[in-house]
Amino acid sequence: MNPILDFSGLPRFDLITPADVQPGISQLLQENRKLVEKLTSTSVAASWNDFAAPLTDGIERLSRAWGIVGHLHSVNDIPQWREAYNGMLPEVSRFFAELGQNLKLFAKYKAIRASKDYPALSQAQRKIIDNEVRDFRLSGAELPEEKKPRFQAISEELASLSAKFSENLLDATNAFAEIVSDEAELAGLPDDVCQAAREAAEKDGKTGWKFTLLMPSYMPVMQYADSRRLRAALYRAYATRAAEFGPAELDNTPVIQRILELRREEAQLLGYNNHAEVSLVPKMAESVTQVLDFLRDLGAKAKPFAQKDIEELRQFAKDQLQLDTLEPWDIGYASEKMLQARYAFSEQEVKQYFTEDKVLTGLFHVVETLFGVRLKPDNAPAWHDDVRFFRIETPAGELVGQFYLDLYARDTKRGGAWMDDAITRRRVFSGSMESIQKPVAYLNCNFPPPVGSKPATFTHDDVTTLFHETGHGLHHLLTRVEELGVSGIHGVEWDAVELPSQFMENYCWEWQVLEQMTAHVDSGAPLPRELFDKMLAAKNFQSGMQTVRQIEFSLFDLLLHSDFDPSAQKAVLELLKEVRDEVAVIIPPEWHRFPNSFSHIFAGGYSAGYFSYKWAEVLSADCYAAFEEAGNPFDQITGKRFLDEIIAAGGTRPALDNFRAFRGREPKVDALLRHNGMISA
Ligand code: ZN
Repeated sequence: MNPILDFSGLPRFDLITPADVQPGISQLLQENRKLVEKLTSTSVAASWNDFAAPLTDGIERLSRAWGIVGHLHSVNDIPQWREAYNGMLPEVSRFFAELGQNLKLFAKYKAIRASKDYPALSQAQRKIIDNEVRDFRLSGAELPEEKKPRFQAISEELASLSAKFSENLLDATNAFAEIVSDEAELAGLPDDVCQAAREAAEKDGKTGWKFTLLMPSYMPVMQYADSRRLRAALYRAYATRAAEFGPAELDNTPVIQRILELRREEAQLLGYNNHAEVSLVPKMAESVTQVLDFLRDLGAKAKPFAQKDIEELRQFAKDQLQLDTLEPWDIGYASEKMLQARYAFSEQEVKQYFTEDKVLTGLFHVVETLFGVRLKPDNAPAWHDDVRFFRIETPAGELVGQFYLDLYARDTKRGGAWMDDAITRRRVFSGSMESIQKPVAYLNCNFPPPVGSKPATFTHDDVTTLFHETGHGLHHLLTRVEELGVSGIHGVEWDAVELPSQFMENYCWEWQVLEQMTAHVDSGAPLPRELFDKMLAAKNFQSGMQTVRQIEFSLFDLLLHSDFDPSAQKAVLELLKEVRDEVAVIIPPEWHRFPNSFSHIFAGGYSAGYFSYKWAEVLSADCYAAFEEAGNPFDQITGKRFLDEIIAAGGTRPALDNFRAFRGREPKVDALLRHNGMISA
């Protein structure tokens, strides 16, 4: 048998080869096409058992098998796996796209929803049906026939405009270079940055040093270059990318205008007033007004701290750097100098204390204490010798879930850190037998492997990342939901999915945790308290300024996609100015063209959704505050409630209901402000 089609248990990493992909996935696609055909016929009743359940079973098989291929492509990106993955990707994507457009499926879901059986379905089942109907509606399935072609045309034009926006920005970014010929202008820059600049110039057949707007060149200049002229030149070039000052064909101004018009038209076809309303339908936030209130509340509370931050920076720049006026291109530079002067500590020194075994023991201890489970080493075939495998059990020894832990960076592994689901918890039926399928997750990081005979050591950032991904993992593994579509992280709103992960990060800042979780690689001593205090102080450096900056972007994004009418005379830049007057403490020069490079909302998936970064931070901080109020980060009663109401509930209920059930009230911004050091005396 093709091992990719073995669904009896854990993925068969000991047997699966790239050659299995094409035949295995093709077979599953074929099976699923037949299944969809059969289930959408009139002879099949629109009921959970006859329609939704078998469809879930079929698609789960495909998703599980394709998930293994995708995972191997991410963690073992050798040519054979890349080829196997890319070979089937278009067909798999096409299948899922067709599924989303299949109006017969939509009709069945709607029929279930309207049936007399619907109220008798479980809460999870009803939520899954509701989600399906919602997603079909938002993709235009319910439009009258005469409006569908226009809706389709808008979708297509928007897709190409987003691509155009990115291309213009990329081309404009790449078009700029600043050649420095006077070595004195390099003062302050790290050696490796100068070296790279020299090589870049040489590659162009030039002498001197070439600086560009790409991050590895731009960032160090803004942060470290003593030359104010160099900083100013790069700043201006960066701030005016893809705008009217450059080549007309790379100007994003008309692209933005057209995107805004089309998004509004699309929203109105669907029966909404504007794009922001559509964007919020599948999100946790309930209304534009609610999000605006949230942002303005946080902005008003953070602004005095941001003002204090900028005043301190101004004073420091004047006294220490002889900069009488603090220009926008001085901010990064002066901030870096001030950070060093006030809160300097060595990352390298901190790293000596976070040895791998100690960190894992500490993490597992946090999870066990908080959620009343046991974590134990387990065995399973994996994709690399460095991968470890663990099981989570109840205190009575019953299996809850299992996870793979792949910690180290490899040149065949995609960058960053992420959690993925291998198997999702659900009730499964085999003939008259039923059982619970236990969940399995992949936790992947890119930490430095051990060198020589010494154990691996991690930075505090690495450790925070590990806790973050573990939070996603626990959301998937500790679920109690029995229906796939809303089990674990499935069906959880996009602006709520970071709650458990950001929540877990808080434990990396608890002294009682760090004390237990650190042992110097040579001496075995725990992290010194004074070093921890410095880390804490640096953590909140300029948090006021950073907060209002995020709010500026979020507010601009939301207003632009709600009340703002792109056909009216008011310009996008005018709106941005109003937002800045309200919340910002740094007002960029009049020629700054921030919208022209705001890819998140014009090319990424964040339109009318940029607020979710802060939103999720507020929620996770507010959840953590429940433990602080109980006087103990491991308070058992609070921990159990957090598990019951949020982690285990998955997507069964709207995330805001989960939050209210846990906290007994609406979310408040106070805890985040306090955690970021923004407390009024
Ligand atoms: Zn995350």
